[in-house]
Amino acid sequence: DTFYRHLPKAELHAHLNGSVSFATMKKLIARKPHLNIEHSMTAISSGQRRTLEECFQMFKVIHQLVDSEEDILMVTKDVVREFATDGVKYLELRSTPREEAKSGLSKTRYVETIIEAIRQSKQDEVDIDVRFLVSVDRRNGPRVAMETVKLAEDFMLSSDGLVLGLDLSGDPAVCNGKDMLPALQRARNSGLKLALHLSEVPSQKEESEILLNLPPDRIGHGTFLHPEVGGSDSLVDKVCKQKIPIELCLTSNVKDQTVPSYDKHHFQYWYDRGHPCVLCTDDKGVFCTDLSQEYQLAASIFALGPEAVWDLSHQAVQCSFAPEPLKQQLKRRWAELRPQVL
Ligand code: IMP
Repeated sequence: DTFYRHLPKAELHAHLNGSVSFATMKKLIARKPHLNIEHSMTAISSGQRRTLEECFQMFKVIHQLVDSEEDILMVTKDVVREFATDGVKYLELRSTPREEAKSGLSKTRYVETIIEAIRQSKQDEVDIDVRFLVSVDRRNGPRVAMETVKLAEDFMLSSDGLVLGLDLSGDPAVCNGKDMLPALQRARNSGLKLALHLSEVPSQKEESEILLNLPPDRIGHGTFLHPEVGGSDSLVDKVCKQKIPIELCLTSNVKDQTVPSYDKHHFQYWYDRGHPCVLCTDDKGVFCTDLSQEYQLAASIFALGPEAVWDLSHQAVQCSFAPEPLKQQLKRRWAELRPQVL
C-alpha cells in the first residue's frame, strides 16, 4: 500500500546483521560458496516460526557470511539504501563490534567501517539520516561489555555525532543483565544514550526491575513487563512514570514466538495507555519484513486510522536519540510531507 511507503518513518530498532536483505544475502553467499549456506538458514519466511534460540543460531550463520571489512561496508550501505527506499527518513542502526581473526578485522575497524558506510551513503545523497548505536551482546559477559562501552565512548567523541548510544541485546537466556550494570552506568554517565532489551522473555522480571532504575532512555521489546503476562504493576509504574519509550517489533515477536499472535501483541497494552510506542523492524532480513509493512500490520490489527498512524511515525522522531536540532529538522520534513501523504 503506497500510503505506508510514502509515510515518512523513523526506524529506531534495527540490528545490522539481522537487517540483511535477500538480495544482499545472495551476494554474500556467492562470495563464500564453501560455507554451503542457503537463504533458508538466514531468514524466516512468511507463515514460518522459530524459537528464540533458533533465531540466535541464525545470527551465527549470518556472522560467518559477514566477516570482513568489505562485507560490512557492503551490508551497511545496502541496508541503509533499503531503509531509505522504504521511506525511512531517520535510522538508528545498531550492531555488535566483532573481531574476526581470519580476515584481520578488529572491533575498532568494525565500527569505523560502519561509520564509513554511513558517510558514503550521505555522499551518495541517499535520502536518510543515519546514526549508530554500539551493541553489547549479553553472551560476552560484563568484561567485554565494559570494553565495548569504552569503545563507544571513543567513537561518540570522534564520529562527528554519528555514534549516539549503546544497545544491550543478545540471547536473554545467556547472561543476567544485572551483571552489566557497572558498564551501563558508565555509559550513561559519559553521555551515551541507552536502548536496552528488557523482559524479552518471562524470566527477566528481577533484571528489568534493576535496569529500569538506570533508567534506560528506551526499552527494546518489553514483552513481559505488564502484569497480564506475568510482569508486575511495579515494572509498569516505573516505565510509565519515567515515560520510557518502548520499541515494538510485531513480526519479530510473532516469528520468534515470544508473542503468540499479532492480535495478542503488547502494542495494544501500551498504546491504549497513551504510552510512547515506536514501531520497529528489529531484523528486517531475518524476519522478512520492512517498516512500511509493520505500520500497515499495526494499523489493520489494532484498527488505527491514517491520522493515528501519522502520529505514531511522528512520535518516533521525538523518541529518537537525535540531538535537538536534527529532531527539529526531521519534524519540519514530516510537516512538509504531510499534505502529500494524508
Ligand atoms: P549485529 O549486532 O549487527 O551482529 O546483529 C545481530 C545481533 O543482534 C545478534 O547476534 C543479537 O546479539 C542481536 N539481536 C538481534 N535480534 C535480537 C532480538 O530479537 N533479541 C535480542 N538480541 C537480538
